[in-house]
Amino acid sequence: MTAQENPEIQPADGMSGAAPQPLDPWFLDLLACPSCPEHLSLTLNAAQDALHCGCGRYAFPIRDGIPILLTDEAELLDPIAEPGQLKKP
Ligand SMILES: [Zn+2]
Repeated sequence: MTAQENPEIQPADGMSGAAPQPLDPWFLDLLACPSCPEHLSLTLNAAQDALHCGCGRYAFPIRDGIPILLTDEAELLDPIAEPGQLKKP
């Protein structure tokens, strides 16, 4: 018998403790890479702890659920990556 039974609180996939808050897709939509001239959109990585720019050069860390969109803080993934894969009509 549990005295604190509350149907509104459910454990998230067996994970205990504080889980990082995923970014809302609409919020992600507002963000753009500050480091490349194209200001490409950003995508969440698999670990959900960084945002990768569409240019392929930068990964921006997410700290406490807040994306740090600063070139100084960005991890350089591939300095020679170019957004050349972008299809242009
Ligand atoms: Zn970029």
